[in-house]
Amino acid sequence: MAELRTQRHQHRETRDGKPFHPDAPHGTRGGYSNYGCRCLECRAANTLAMRMYRRRDGPQSPAT
Ligand SMILES: [Zn+2]
Repeated sequence: MAELRTQRHQHRETRDGKPFHPDAPHGTRGGYSNYGCRCLECRAANTLAMRMYRRRDGPQSPAT
């Protein structure tokens, strides 16, 4: 649902110069990717998920 995602992004605020979504499930990758939240918790969750993904997938980055 790309439209839903766009709607969610419109509800973002800016905190400390970074997009923040008040309704996002912070500390999860969904908060980062689905809600576009870039708070410390969401970024940490996304970084961790990407790190695990790369580790499982090998050293090559999944850039397609
Ligand atoms: Zn967040």
